[in-house]
Amino acid sequence: MTIPSSREACLVLDAADPLAGLRARFHLPAGQVYLDGNSLGVLPRATPDRLARVIREEWGEGLIASWNSPTPGSAAGAGWVDAPLRVGERLAPLLGAGPGQVAVADSTSVNLYKLLAMALSLRPERRVILSEADNFPTDLYIAQGLIAQLGGRHELRLLPAGASSADYAAALDAEVAVLMLSHVSYRSGAMHDLRSLSAAAHAAGALTLWDLAHSAGAVPLALDADGADFAVGCGYKYLNGGPGAPAFLYVARRWQGQATSPLSGWFGHAQPFAFEPDYRPAPDIAQALCGTPPILGLSALEVGIEQFEGVDLAQLRAKSLALGELCIGLVESRLAGQGFSLASPREAARRGSQVCWRHPEAWPICQALIARGVVGDFRAPDILRFGFTPLYLRHVDVWDAVEQLDQVMTSGEWRQARFQARSKVT
Ligand SMILES: *Cc1c(COP(=O)(O)O)cnc(C)c1O
Repeated sequence: MTIPSSREACLVLDAADPLAGLRARFHLPAGQVYLDGNSLGVLPRATPDRLARVIREEWGEGLIASWNSPTPGSAAGAGWVDAPLRVGERLAPLLGAGPGQVAVADSTSVNLYKLLAMALSLRPERRVILSEADNFPTDLYIAQGLIAQLGGRHELRLLPAGASSADYAAALDAEVAVLMLSHVSYRSGAMHDLRSLSAAAHAAGALTLWDLAHSAGAVPLALDADGADFAVGCGYKYLNGGPGAPAFLYVARRWQGQATSPLSGWFGHAQPFAFEPDYRPAPDIAQALCGTPPILGLSALEVGIEQFEGVDLAQLRAKSLALGELCIGLVESRLAGQGFSLASPREAARRGSQVCWRHPEAWPICQALIARGVVGDFRAPDILRFGFTPLYLRHVDVWDAVEQLDQVMTSGEWRQARFQARSKVT
C-alpha cells in the first residue's frame, strides 16, 4: 500500500470504502478518534432502544413469562431461557463455527476455567499446559488456580513472547495436554497461525484452547476448518456488546459429551427444570453453561453481533489491515526520531487489528493524546496501543490521530505533570 500523503488523500480512500456505510450504525462521541474498540467497543445505535424494550416490555410487563418462548396463540414470552445458545448461534459464523458449538455465558476468565478443566480431563495421562509468557494475565492466573485445585500435579509451561510456530511445535512433547494461547496478543497484536498450531498440537496428541478476545469481530476465523478444540472470547471488545458483556465459548462437537464442565450448575443440566437432586450433564453445548443467564447483558450483546450480519469479513480484514498499514507508515515517516518503535509484527498477515508502539514515555504520551481526543491505551510497561475497528473507523481518523500524536511530541506537552499520574484502569 502506498501511504496517502495528505488528509485529502485519506478522505478519497474513505469515499471509496465499501464498508463506509457501517459507521452510521454506531454512536461515536463527537470530537473523538476512538482507537480503543479492542478494549471496550462502542455503542451500537440500536442498543438503547432494544434494551429499553427488554426492560419495559419483557421484564416490566412479561415478567416470569419472558423466560419462555411464545407459545402459539399467546403474546407472552421473550425466549430468555434460549438466549445463551441463540446468541451463540448468531455469533458462530463470525468464528467459523458450525451450529451447536457456541454459547454465550459468564466471563472470558470463567469460560477459560471451565474449558481448560474440560480439556485437561480429556488428557488425564498428561500434565503440561503449554502457553506464552506474554499471554493475557487472567489466562495464566486461571491456569495457575486450576493447577493448584487439581493438586499441583500439572505444570504451566511458558514460551517467551514472540515464540514461533516452530518453537511451539518443538515444545509440544508427549507431556503436553493442552496448548492454551491467545490467537491475537493483547499486548503486541501478533497473531498466531491457529491452523498450523492446532495441527501441531494434534500431531503431538495435545488439545488446543484459543482465547479469541482480540480476534472475534476483528479477524476472520475458521475454528471448525482449522481444527480448534476449545475457544473463549469477550463480548465487550470488537463485538460491541457493552461493558462487562457476557463472553462466549466454543466446544468442538467431537468433545461435547466427552468432558464435563467443572462448574456443574443447573443450566448445564440435561433438564434444569426437572429439579433432580443429581447432576446429569446436558449432552450438547448447553453443558458448558452454569447459572441463570444475564438477560440485559445478553440482549445488548445480541445487538452488537447483529451489526456484523451481512458484512463481508474479507472486506473487514482488508480494511483493518489498511488502517494498520496507514498508521505504521504515517508514524514512521512523520515521527521518525521521536523514540517510537513498532511493537507489532510488520508483516500484515501476522497482525491482528491493532498496532502497538513501544516508547519509554508511553504512559504520559497516551494521556496527552487522550486529552486531545485521540483515545488509545497504554499497556504496561511501555506500550502505546491503537485498536483499529474496521466497522466504524476511517482512514481520516488514522490521519488525525497521527497528526495529534505529532503535535503531542513536537510540543512536548506530554511532559506536563497532569499526564504523569496513573489511574486504576489503564
Ligand atoms: C480482555 C481479555 C480478557 C478479559 O477477560 P475477562 O474475564 O472478560 O475479564 C481475557 N483474555 C484476553 C486475551 C483478553 O484480551
